[in-house]
Amino acid sequence: MILTGTLEITLSKPLPSEAINDMPKIVEFLNEDYLKRGARRVEDAATITEFNANLNTIIMKIKTGTKVRLDEASLRVKNVLANSMGNKYRIGIRKLALKDVKVILDTKISISLKLPFIKGITEANGKTIIELTELYEDDLKRPLFLRLMQLIEEKEKRMKWGGKAEHWVLLKNSDIRIQKPITMDPNKILEEIGWIKRMSIGQWLYTPPLTHLLNALKKLFLDEVVKPLGFQEAIFPKMYPLEVGLKTGHLKGVINSIVFASLPKSYDLSEFEELIDSMYVMDSIEPEDLQKYLKPPTYFLCFAQCEPFYWFFENEILDDNILPIKWFDMSGPSFRWESGGIHGIERVIEFHRIEVVWLGKPEQVIEIRNKLLERYEYFMDKILELEWRMAWVTPWFYEQSGVVQEEVKSINIDVPGTIDFEAWLPYKGPREDNKNWLEIGNISIHGTKFTEPFRVKHNKGDILWTGCSGFGSERWLLALLAQKGFDVNDWPKKFLEYVKASPFPRSVISVSYPRTKEGKELLNQVISKLNW
Ligand code: ATP
Ligand code: ZN
Ligand code: MG
Repeated sequence: MILTGTLEITLSKPLPSEAINDMPKIVEFLNEDYLKRGARRVEDAATITEFNANLNTIIMKIKTGTKVRLDEASLRVKNVLANSMGNKYRIGIRKLALKDVKVILDTKISISLKLPFIKGITEANGKTIIELTELYEDDLKRPLFLRLMQLIEEKEKRMKWGGKAEHWVLLKNSDIRIQKPITMDPNKILEEIGWIKRMSIGQWLYTPPLTHLLNALKKLFLDEVVKPLGFQEAIFPKMYPLEVGLKTGHLKGVINSIVFASLPKSYDLSEFEELIDSMYVMDSIEPEDLQKYLKPPTYFLCFAQCEPFYWFFENEILDDNILPIKWFDMSGPSFRWESGGIHGIERVIEFHRIEVVWLGKPEQVIEIRNKLLERYEYFMDKILELEWRMAWVTPWFYEQSGVVQEEVKSINIDVPGTIDFEAWLPYKGPREDNKNWLEIGNISIHGTKFTEPFRVKHNKGDILWTGCSGFGSERWLLALLAQKGFDVNDWPKKFLEYVKASPFPRSVISVSYPRTKEGKELLNQVISKLNW
């Protein structure tokens, strides 16, 4: 990225000829020294390529990289001039204007023309030139310029990833375990036998039998993984103010998958009279009519489930006594608009998750991740006896250097990033094909991704990191059923022990439920195995 612009400095009085003679020296100092400070490579710093002093204006053409940006360079030029002209000639600086500002990018990117400061965008030979409107000293002091650069850099990074959300490298996998793969889709079976009923797209009611299985699995996970590592339960809200999502980055990154919530415009019931009357008479409600009675959305529904954790520690100063902090939350659902990807209980709009979160110094955060990783492996391998694999995934926003780690041997997992756990879903097809595997959970360490925007500080100035891990209950159960089937004799011993710990709930069997004859028969088969 190259930035160019013309800096116009208006002085309080015309320059005497001695001052004009001083200019080359001042520019030399700026170019050789002051404008290069803070950048390792010359092309990342700033250079004055042309200058001209005339009466009471000084004009400089400046070209910069991204370390000493045009705005910063302009302010540095001003400082130096103000000092030398002020001391020697009693000349002040009246006005600073940056004109013909261009941001030249080596890639093709698109950016909203509605953004303030953007005048135009042209594209030629794979390059993009963004022209900005004239900027004044106040604009240069605001971080807007910096944020625009960040936006452009993020767009460029995303481009380099070619639309892929993440980069995937296998870390470890289990032995081949399944000899006779089950080809039936457990999602379909669950619906057919009536253990789940679809309320709306991607949203289900789980009847007591399925709830019983989900609870057994969750309890097993808590007992085997979460509690032995000393995590303590908290209850997080499930509807977050928009500001929280601005800070976590979710609104910028995944706004297309977020479900939003609105409050009514009024608490006065009489103001809804028209709408209520219409419902009485028409026995229907049009979302467009309802919208007129609602405020614009001010909340978004639980997306990553760990957002409230970072929010809680916002602006706090923590000392060693309470670090590391290890919590988990399982108090409610997460919501995601998954559009066309919705399937059964494995990809839903409303799902349930045990979210494990922690905060500490980098070495603490890494150590906790490592312990969790060990327990997760034990859980997948020895407790649930799954066919699993784990992979290091680098989401595009963590990719810093432009070079993605390709070699498994050279993978350093002690940097911010994510480990995904995946299970083979035999009903989808052969294990050799990646699309037949499902992400069931993950562990991330975030570095300062959240402690920075939420300004979570250590009293001695040490760096603080966070980590989180999501155990999506539906996905784990689905994976288990896909690999082990519905015959309890094939279920892993420990899981069965938890299932049997309390009486198995009754299934709903009635005149019209489950809907089909086949469903009823299948249900009877499943139930007969559950008779202990
Ligand atoms: P995928 O790539 O499969 O969409 P993801 O990367 O979006 O998964 P995360 O954002 O890492 O998933 O969420 C953490 C965990 O939450 C997942 O590992 C999974 O167990 C669960 N999860 C995420 N999205 C859904 C969903 N739509 N339905 C059910 N569980 C989900
Ligand atoms: Zn999280
Ligand atoms: Mg997803």
